[in-house]
Amino acid sequence: PGEIYIVSTPIGHLDDITLRAREVLCQVDLICAEDTRHSGRLLEALDSKVPMMALHEHNESQKANVIIEKLALGQSLALISDAGTPLISDPGFVLVNAVIAAGYKVVPVPGVSAVVTALSVAGLPTDRWLFEGFLPSKAGARVKRLKALANQPCSVVFYESSHRIEKSLADMSMVFGAYRPIAVARELTKTFETVLRGTVAEVLEQVSSDANQQKGEFVVVVGGKVEHAEQTISDPTILALARELSEA
Ligand code: SAM
Repeated sequence: PGEIYIVSTPIGHLDDITLRAREVLCQVDLICAEDTRHSGRLLEALDSKVPMMALHEHNESQKANVIIEKLALGQSLALISDAGTPLISDPGFVLVNAVIAAGYKVVPVPGVSAVVTALSVAGLPTDRWLFEGFLPSKAGARVKRLKALANQPCSVVFYESSHRIEKSLADMSMVFGAYRPIAVARELTKTFETVLRGTVAEVLEQVSSDANQQKGEFVVVVGGKVEHAEQTISDPTILALARELSEA
């Protein structure tokens, strides 16, 4: 029987493809890709001659039937997205669900995802975290969503685009407060990779004052709400002052 491989591809640096991903992408009968022109460049670099079929959010359920027919014929398929891991803020859920329901094997070929990549360098707690993906594009809905997250004790991770990074950070400053710790990871694994760390106010200021910091792709990691804020103060002057006051 046929099977479908869910294959992670790089989020920028081509060398981040895994050996197994390359092997699978050279050996399957058909590759389902979000944007076949974009993925064509990756397959060319991998020297894969496997044909592609477009599968994106608008035709996913319709294509799922076609794919199940191919699996029934014993073919092996792969699903890739434009970058990173399929299904993570990318198409694939409808297809995977349909393939499982039809009784065929779904095989993960793991690799990079921007969310985990950002968490690995953010310098914020990673023992528990919440992935929120993209915030709503409309201001009202965005603020409402942020308010619903304001008391989360764990780190919260967002995906953001260049169009909205500044507005989203401004909304976060308003809703989470200017002093909440944050990390903004931009263009991870690419030439202009930058990670800005600090309070929301500090990072917002850096992004607002430099147009270059608004270009590219972003992952925003916001520290969770800490109930006893005084435990997180590390400024030696403030700590000494606090000690003096408590001893007085
Ligand atoms: N499936 C992908 C993954 O596993 O990370 C995510 C796809 S989603 C449509 C694209 C978003 O992921 C971008 O808007 C950005 O928020 C984030 N992203 C992808 N590549 C990135 C990179 N190199 N640096 C920072 N963020 C990135």
